[in-house]
Amino acid sequence: MNQIIIHVDMDAFYASVEMRDHPSLRGKPLIIGSMPNERGVVATCSYEARKYGIHSAMNIKEAYRRCPNGIYMRPDFDKYKAVSAQLHEIWNTYADASEYIALDEAYLDVTGKAKNFDGAREIAHTIKRRTHDELGLSCSVGVAYSKTAAKTASEEKKPDGYFEIPDEKAIMDLMTERDVRSLYTVGVKTAEKLHDAGIHTVRDIQEQREEVIRLLGKQGQWLTQIAFGMDDRKVVPYLPQNAKSISRELTFQEDVSNDVLLKDVLFLLSLCVDNRAKRYGLYGKGITLKITFSDMKNITRSKAVMSCESAIEIYKEAVQLFEQVKKRPIRL
Ligand SMILES: [Mg+2]
Repeated sequence: MNQIIIHVDMDAFYASVEMRDHPSLRGKPLIIGSMPNERGVVATCSYEARKYGIHSAMNIKEAYRRCPNGIYMRPDFDKYKAVSAQLHEIWNTYADASEYIALDEAYLDVTGKAKNFDGAREIAHTIKRRTHDELGLSCSVGVAYSKTAAKTASEEKKPDGYFEIPDEKAIMDLMTERDVRSLYTVGVKTAEKLHDAGIHTVRDIQEQREEVIRLLGKQGQWLTQIAFGMDDRKVVPYLPQNAKSISRELTFQEDVSNDVLLKDVLFLLSLCVDNRAKRYGLYGKGITLKITFSDMKNITRSKAVMSCESAIEIYKEAVQLFEQVKKRPIRL
């Protein structure tokens, strides 16, 4: 099977959009996310802010400790969604199929349109040029034979990067001597487990497959495959009619115990879900309520329903589920 896949990822997306629109922010440590006096995390930050060790998902208080003189801004998701739609338009011109991973990130299957690697390289550079010329933004692009390799390639020369990984040998040459942490999907915790077991490099994973699988189970199996560059996953385009569920959630700024307020929020969320379902002509056969409490414990409660076709019905079912839950302060 020969696929040619592009992974495109915008550089510091939210921050770059804001710096494009507000020239006074350029060259400054800009942190998009919660405000330092709130509970929450960094969504994105500019490269200047990264010099202070700030990164996505960092606790906002920790970010503030590292960079009290930074500029802190809330995200403007409506704006980023609009930019994302413009990006999709560019990407889709060159792709046989597009799989959006986030507002600013996608896998593009270009096997048919590119014909070969030279063609794919040209597409990648066209995407970069158009993104810059038409939207005033920069992206990093990887071209490769698989999704994992394309993702790895786009990371390789960030920001404003371009890199290609044409085959399994190329990714093994690149990765084998690196720390396990550099392997796609290996996070801090997984890396720690591997390190504790004396497995430090990608080569160690290649040589100690049994041990990796024993340690990490299913994830271990996956890692032993990608350590050898094996990944034949396809680019799966997002189609609304394939959606198995529609959900909406809301995280509170402060824990909420007030039943009346919580039910109001449930109603708003029901409206949002219903709205989305109607847009695609869908109806529900089950309702799930997810709650995160103040101590970050999650619960979900589900029930099957005959058919759920209005916001009121969704709301009534959700409230029933809610009332079965023992009351304590709720965060989400
Ligand atoms: Mg990005």
